[in-house]
Amino acid sequence: LLEINHCRKQFGSTEVLTDLSISVEEGQVLSIIGPSGSGKSTLLRCATLLETMDGGDLIYLGNYAARDVNGKAVYATPAELQKIRGMFGLVFQNFNLFPHYSVLKNVMEAPMLVQKRQEKEVREEAMALLEQMGLSDKADAYPYQLSGGQQQRVSIARALAMNPKILFFDEPTSALDPELTGEILKVIRKLAEKKMTMVIVTHEMSFARDVSDWVVFMNGGVIVEQGDPRDVIDNPTHERTIQFLRRLQ
Ligand code: ATP
Ligand code: MG
Repeated sequence: LLEINHCRKQFGSTEVLTDLSISVEEGQVLSIIGPSGSGKSTLLRCATLLETMDGGDLIYLGNYAARDVNGKAVYATPAELQKIRGMFGLVFQNFNLFPHYSVLKNVMEAPMLVQKRQEKEVREEAMALLEQMGLSDKADAYPYQLSGGQQQRVSIARALAMNPKILFFDEPTSALDPELTGEILKVIRKLAEKKMTMVIVTHEMSFARDVSDWVVFMNGGVIVEQGDPRDVIDNPTHERTIQFLRRLQ
């Protein structure tokens, strides 16, 4: 479903991602772990077109968002990129809800504005998503009236409202206390059971172990180790991975 080949990204003269490749199959959950500054968010931002790669291919369902031409990433036309944007959703650490919109309007906004769908149908779907997230009674509330966990569930509902093929999460629980973290991890587990394709940057190791089909450990802009979670998390082989996991315990 998603393929990134030989991704390179520099900020100024600093190379943040070096020849990094991942691929995600339909229905798979891939978790990305690694120390602060290793380039996890930058990789997600490149994958979701919030940053441009300097080199490499970015391919969604056979559609090239960027193609490597002689070591440089050449991007598709704006129209093609717009089509590709409709294939993924993104959930941030800080929820990023529109503060001046109600919960329901936050969820309905993109399907109406971007997909130009009928209001009635979008409203019904949005209400169903809010119900799925246990937020039926919060439809008319504003983000500031919600707990962090509730806000994050709204932002997951908002991402799902676009019917994405793949969902990206960048540390979805790191702004939450342990109780609310559990609440969000439960929602993501449910999505995994429903075979939603997901790429998740997380520091929650036991969650990553349970929910992922594949785990990537990054350090210094490269993949140091990857594989089945039982190998990477429970039996890491590289010294850097061992050190990282030990520190989290
Ligand atoms: P964390 O776990 O703290 O979120 P991360 O693995 O997500 O870390 P990134 O945010 O991807 O790390 O950052 C990787 C490196 O790129 C860091 O050294 C960071 O300072 C640098 N970097 C990220 N964004 C920019 C930017 N817009 N301009 C310059 N440098 C940047
Ligand atoms: Mg980050």
